[in-house]
Parts: sequence; C-alpha cells; structure tokens
Amino acid sequence: MDLFLRDGARVGIIGGGPAGSFAAIHLLAIAASLNKKIKVFIFDKKDFTSGSGCNFCAGILSNTLIKELLQYNIVIPPEIIQREIKGYYYETIEGTAYFPKPSTSSICSVFRANGPFISKELYNVSFDYFLLQEAIKRGAHKIDSNINKIVFPSSPQDQVSLYSREQNTYYDFDLVFGAFGINTSFVMELEKSGIGYKAPQYLHSGQAEIPYDISMDKKFHDDIIIFIIPFKDLYFFSFTPKAKYLTVTAIGPHVTRAMLEKIFTIPQVMKYFPKKLRFPLEYCHCHPKIPITVAKNPYYHRFVIVGDACWSRYLKDGITSAFYTSKFGVECAFKYGISLDAFRDRYFRKIIQLDKDNTVGKILFKVHNRFKGSQAVRSSLFSMATNYTNKKIRENTRYILWGLFTGDYSYKKIMKKAIRISFIMHFIINIINAYLRIIFDNLSKINKKNKFRIIKKRSKVH
Ligand SMILES: Cc1cc2nc3c(=O)[nH]c(=O)nc-3n(C[C@H](O)[C@H](O)[C@H](O)COP(=O)(O)OP(=O)(O)OC[C@H]3O[C@@H](n4cnc5c(N)ncnc54)[C@H](O)[C@@H]3O)c2cc1C
Repeated sequence: MDLFLRDGARVGIIGGGPAGSFAAIHLLAIAASLNKKIKVFIFDKKDFTSGSGCNFCAGILSNTLIKELLQYNIVIPPEIIQREIKGYYYETIEGTAYFPKPSTSSICSVFRANGPFISKELYNVSFDYFLLQEAIKRGAHKIDSNINKIVFPSSPQDQVSLYSREQNTYYDFDLVFGAFGINTSFVMELEKSGIGYKAPQYLHSGQAEIPYDISMDKKFHDDIIIFIIPFKDLYFFSFTPKAKYLTVTAIGPHVTRAMLEKIFTIPQVMKYFPKKLRFPLEYCHCHPKIPITVAKNPYYHRFVIVGDACWSRYLKDGITSAFYTSKFGVECAFKYGISLDAFRDRYFRKIIQLDKDNTVGKILFKVHNRFKGSQAVRSSLFSMATNYTNKKIRENTRYILWGLFTGDYSYKKIMKKAIRISFIMHFIINIINAYLRIIFDNLSKINKKNKFRIIKKRSKVH
C-alpha cells in the first residue's frame, strides 16, 4: 500500500535522546530540501538540565559521528566537550600498550546529562540537551512529557495517537518515530500493543562516576584506558576521563555495584590512582541495558522505531548508530512512504544488513573473552602489538586491537585482518613460544624450590 507524508504533516517523536533529536534534525533537513512543510514534536519528560536526566553512557563521541554532525553544521561547543581524547591505553597483566589516535581523527568525551547526579555545573554541559536545542533551532517543538500509550488506527489511512497521562491528552500524528531507547518501561507497553514488536536483547552494564583528583591527571592525561584483565563475569572495563570525573564502564552479562567496586582492588587499576585514594562512599552509578541484538518488527503503518530500541552496533558507538538508524528511517519516509511495507522493505532490510557486521563482532568478542584468561595468548598479543620487529604484523595487531575497542572500523574489516595467514602463523609461533617460556619458568621455579629444600635438609643434618 502506498502511503506518503502529506504537505503540512504532523510528526511525533517519542524520546528526546540522540535518536529522537537526530530524527527531528533529519526530518526538518529533508523536508526543507524538498520544500515540504512539516511540524515535528518531540516528547520526553527529561529536559537534561540537571544530572538526573542522564541517558547512561560512557560519553565517547566517535570520529564518524563528529564528522557526520559537521555535514549538518552541528559543531559541538567547547563547554560540552569534557576531554579531547588523544589515544587509548590497553592495560593487561603483561604490560601497557599505547595507541595514539590517528592525527586525522577526532574523538571526545561528553556528559549525556548536565554532569553526574551529584555535580552542580555552572552552565549546561549535557550533550543530549545540546542536540535537542539543535533540533529546536531547526523548528522542532519539545513537549516536556512522556508518552504512556500509543493507539494504532484500524485503517492505515488514519493517524496514530499518542497519549500522555500527565497531560491527559491524545496527540494525533501522520507519522510517529519511536526513539525511546531500551531503558524504559514503554518497551513493554509497545510489546503488548499487538504490532509484533520485540525489543533487542541486552546486557546489564555498570557505570560509575569517580570525582577526579587533580593528581590523577598526570596518569590519565586525555586518554581512555581499556583493561583487558581476567575478571569473573566482566568482558572488559574502561576508564573515560571527563573534566572533573572519571567514568568507569564495565561490560558483562550483569554488572553489579559490588563488581564495580572490586575493580578498585586490582593492582593494574590502582597504579593509576594516588596511594591514599578511597572509593567514595557516595557516587553516581547506574546499570543500564546495552542492546546486543536487533529488534523484531520495529515498524507499523505510520510508525517506525529508531536508535537503541531498534538496533545498535555491538558494544560500540551507540550514538553513531542512533544517527544512522534515524537517518535511514527519515529517508525511507520521504522516499518510499510511511506504510508498514515501506518501513519493512526499505528501512528494516537495511538495518538487517548492518546487523550482519554485528554477527562478525560477536565472534571476535567471543574469541577475545574466551582467551583473555590465557597468559600465553595475552603476552603474545601484547608483544605483537608493542615491540614486535616485524612491522607489518605489528601494524596488523594494532589495527585489530584499535578497531575492536574504538569502533573506528567495521567488524568485517577487523576479521579480515585477524584471519590473514601471515598473522595467524606469527600468532601461533608466539603462543608456542609463550607456552614454552611459561613451562620453562615453572620448571626453574620448581628446581629452585627443590634446591632450597635440599639445602635446608642438609643444614638440619649438620
Ligand atoms: C554503559 C554504556 C556505555 C555506553 N557508552 C557509549 C559511548 O561511549 N559512546 C556511544 O556512542 N554510545 C555509548 N553507549 C550507547 C548509547 O548510550 C546509546 O546507543 C544511545 O544512548 C542510544 O540513543 P537513543 O536515543 O536510542 O536512546 P536513549 O539515549 O536511551 O534515549 C531515549 C530517550 O527516550 C526517552 N523516553 C523513554 N521512554 C519515553 C516515553 N515513554 N515517552 C517519552 N520519552 C521517553 C528517555 O527519557 C530518553 O531521553 C553506551 C551505552 C551503555 C549502556
């Protein structure tokens, strides 16, 4: 069935996070280029003017996103940028490897809300607030209220209704974007609506904001630290520096507060902190869901879901994914229409294609998680990425590690580098060497112990 946006159409957006603001920005940009008049309304109770409006995130903005925003004349102001990131440290038991960012790329850290819950910022530093203002500047209207119910019409020709309990009002729209993320009970409401929507599956991550001691600056600089250290039930954890805080992000199936605090007993972690550092008694922490699969049926007539509630790159820059899903949803609406068929065939098929890269990413992370406990594998990778004499292999290893954690390259590209015969051969030889070294070290330790026992026995005889 053909169903298109009419001139003067009303578009409702549920959620004022990145996906919601991006949807509004794309909608208004394309409508202007086509000389079409539309009215865009964003619903969200959060206004991002305090720390309590946080959308839970490490707050790293990727090079891809920063460049894409520039195309829309969106320049992130200096007061929003917490740190310009210079590089990544990979901290392993075997040592520390440093990866400076390529000179052509920009990465920065931001706060999603106006700082953490406990902070009192003088001016608004929230990235989500900034994006929302960009959408408003371009003509979107913000309604400070959540949507509690969505009523789909019996005929596709009729409008979709959004109900706000707080305002006790029904709002009618020609098209609705669902940009509500997955950290909301609205997901369950929609799953019950009968359109066949099923939210993505997720991991329960953990985050904490630690107040920044100025003496820590000498150790952290403007770098992100990824810890590849065996830790039960954690895949990895990272530190992201902000102006006055350090964001600790831990990824695993179900990260608890106790697990976050246990991180601060690990020697490789504590070496970054002043000796007398105590874990604060009160600190901002959260346990948000991070999507790991694609949603089922994230569309209907006059309705399309974008952002985390639809799809995101596996354990990667979700804000960039929100930018693209919103863009593809909007492009589909203008080019191919707003019917269920259009969203299924022209929008969702594209997302399914993108998700194929996530399948490769899951294999890479599975291998990483399976072997990160092996000393031989860790030390081989570490030496191949740092002091290896074969430059090609060293560069290849660095490409894989950089790509796996920064999200700068697709998982398919990383996999291609990882299955190169020359890389695998060097890796195997290094692992064999590492095992031999470990066996030799253990044998010499046993020999030393035995010698010590013999000497002890002899001295007893005398
Ligand atoms: C631990 C962790 C670390 C992360 N780190 C990064 C990172 O460093 N870089 C990166 O790019 N991505 C990161 N991400 C991913 C990123 O946070 C998400 O991909 C991104 O926030 C998705 O944007 P969104 O707009 O789809 O959803 P959200 O950001 O969740 O926004 C949804 C919005 O909808 C609103 N809403 C919900 N229900 C309703 C309703 N019923 N009515 C009206 N409004 C509603 C909410 O208030 C919210 O403002 C991280 C995620 C996690 C969990």
